[in-house]
Amino acid sequence: AATTLILSGCSNSARTDAGSGDAAAGFDQGSIVGVALPAKTSENWVLAGDLFNEDLTSAGFKPDVQYAAASGTVANQQEQIQSMVTKGAKVIVIGAADGGQLGTQVKAAHDAGAIVIAYDRLILNTEDVDYYVAYDNFKVGELQGQALLDGMKAKKADGPYNIELFSGSSDDANSAVFFNGAMSVLQPAIDDGTVVVGSGQTDIKQTATDGWKAENAQRRMDSLLTSTYTDKELDGVLSPNDTLARAIITSVKQAGKDIPVVTGQDSEVESVKSIMAGEQYSTINKDTRNLVKQAVAMVTSVSEGDTPETNDDESYDNGSKVVPAYLLPPQIVTKDNAAEAYANDPTLGPLTK
Ligand code: BGC
Repeated sequence: AATTLILSGCSNSARTDAGSGDAAAGFDQGSIVGVALPAKTSENWVLAGDLFNEDLTSAGFKPDVQYAAASGTVANQQEQIQSMVTKGAKVIVIGAADGGQLGTQVKAAHDAGAIVIAYDRLILNTEDVDYYVAYDNFKVGELQGQALLDGMKAKKADGPYNIELFSGSSDDANSAVFFNGAMSVLQPAIDDGTVVVGSGQTDIKQTATDGWKAENAQRRMDSLLTSTYTDKELDGVLSPNDTLARAIITSVKQAGKDIPVVTGQDSEVESVKSIMAGEQYSTINKDTRNLVKQAVAMVTSVSEGDTPETNDDESYDNGSKVVPAYLLPPQIVTKDNAAEAYANDPTLGPLTK
């Protein structure tokens, strides 16, 4: 039935006439849609692969979903994309392992007539990316920065508050956007002295967490505690996601210190438990089911020869072009609204305070 939907309003002969290389003119049911995902650095990626397989299949496509390997990641993803092109994929959806290193592969995709959709992470410095679909990354950062301030105020009415800043992997275009969003909220408080970054490490080069790896965040937190917090209280930590938030909390606990207000992102199972137990302060709800649905809707429009719907054609300049984007709204989640936020989530709900 889904297949009939895709074909409605466009005759089969028009598709055949368009030739296999002209994805802009639509393409046949049963075509291959490649989905190249990064390494499984957080639960959202694991879920995305399963959902792409299910949703693309039920929309009538033949999904080819691949994850980049945990080591040799970039080269592995480059090969996977190249092989999707060779297999004749009509659309390639890419969650980039390294957004700056796919120029050759997306050009090959375009040369073969395939449409390229950047999924969750932007692909940088190339004209050969057609659309971007993601949660609003800057908003994610703003919500994290605000949650950090709110959480600290709720514990202690007046500052100054001592904080530390963590950001994501520098090869992920999202990392700077999350960080800039958070800093847009935190910087005024730093400037007026309400908030103090104890270590003085405020540059994204100092705060970055290579590969989004928990062990890297834990190691940096260990050393910050020793260098800066032997005789000072740490009130809050900006963490860009849940995996890193838990690593930071582990470090603090091992040092025998009180857990500061720690932000997160992704609604990972262990972090939602931690929030309900009063340890991690916040996460961000970016329901992967909705993001994959939106990406598959884009694929479906392209298959019909239509231009997919976008809602932000200004914000995502990748260095070579402004990529038309469809952005979904992220939601902040703390213990206060978790039950409500995850009421319809089969993995996380139902929760009780
Ligand atoms: C995603 C985050 C995720 C991170 C690490 C980012 O690009 O937007 O949701 O936490 O990758 O996997």
